[in-house]
Amino acid sequence: MIDKLCIIGVGLIGGSLARALRAKEFVHEVIGYGRSIENLNEAVRLGVIDGVEPTAPAAVRDADMVVIAVPIGATRDVLTQIASALAPDAVITDVGSVKGSVVQDARAALGPRFSRFVPGHPIAGTERSGVAASFPELFERRRVIVTPEPETSPEALARVQAMWEAVGADVSAMTAADHDRILAASSHLPHVLAYNLVDMIVRMDEHRSIFDCAGGGFRDFTRIAASDPTMWRDIFLANRDELLALLQQYQDDLQALMEAIERGDGRWLWETFARAKHAREQLGAGNGAGGD
Ligand code: NAP
Repeated sequence: MIDKLCIIGVGLIGGSLARALRAKEFVHEVIGYGRSIENLNEAVRLGVIDGVEPTAPAAVRDADMVVIAVPIGATRDVLTQIASALAPDAVITDVGSVKGSVVQDARAALGPRFSRFVPGHPIAGTERSGVAASFPELFERRRVIVTPEPETSPEALARVQAMWEAVGADVSAMTAADHDRILAASSHLPHVLAYNLVDMIVRMDEHRSIFDCAGGGFRDFTRIAASDPTMWRDIFLANRDELLALLQQYQDDLQALMEAIERGDGRWLWETFARAKHAREQLGAGNGAGGD
């Protein structure tokens, strides 16, 4: 049970977590802090949070659980602002889609308080953002990955795990490095490709006709290109090394595919596509929750 929850960044993920914890009666009071007062007022009006504070240090005061749910690029600044205002036994966690950079930021900003920080990432979301898009069922039967460091307090970790389980999520642990390598392939690369494809097409003279004639394949492949550009810019920059390595591999494979088409190598193409079809049918595509 959480007595006072502070959500910093009351958007899709922060708002959905607040809604879900309230729906499960797992929290007494929810205080929000964010960038714009308009968004926070809307969060109060929608019943997502009980109240707002004008500064980040005021928002975390006396909170026993603090959830950072801002774009990755704003994480260090937020943690630096709150570090000296945290209650001694407060647990701090985050929901960021990259973990290595967040761990670095938290270690630098929190100093001796770093043991109270539990890095986390719910594999759930949609391509929409903002508190109006939040909903309490978002995390049900979804996976949450935590990436504890050697210093992480087992008690803090258990409290974060209990919070996510209360809203219906399955929690599993891995290292931050494993998380960032795996998510680069399952999430970050597909988002880069979707953004790139849509931007390439929209710069063509006949892009309106192309969009008009698009079928389900185009819609499925490009849905995620409607995701928030700030959030994804921050993710790509924070996971730069893993993403660049994968993009290099993708470029090499695309080159091989182009060469096979050029030389009319139907066998090569068939074998490549059959391998992909078999893998997709055998392995599926995660929980299909969208968002990342
Ligand atoms: P969102 O809906 O845009 O919400 C982000 C919130 O952070 C907004 O309320 C925004 O306030 C606030 N914010 C932005 N910059 C801030 C700053 N400097 N200080 C304080 N508050 C700030 O985004 P989201 O989809 O919830 O994503 C939040 C985090 O969750 C990201 O780190 C992302 O990597 C992670 N995540 C997202 C998904 C997904 O599918 N969307 C899935 C898993 C994890 P304003 O409204 O006033 O700008």
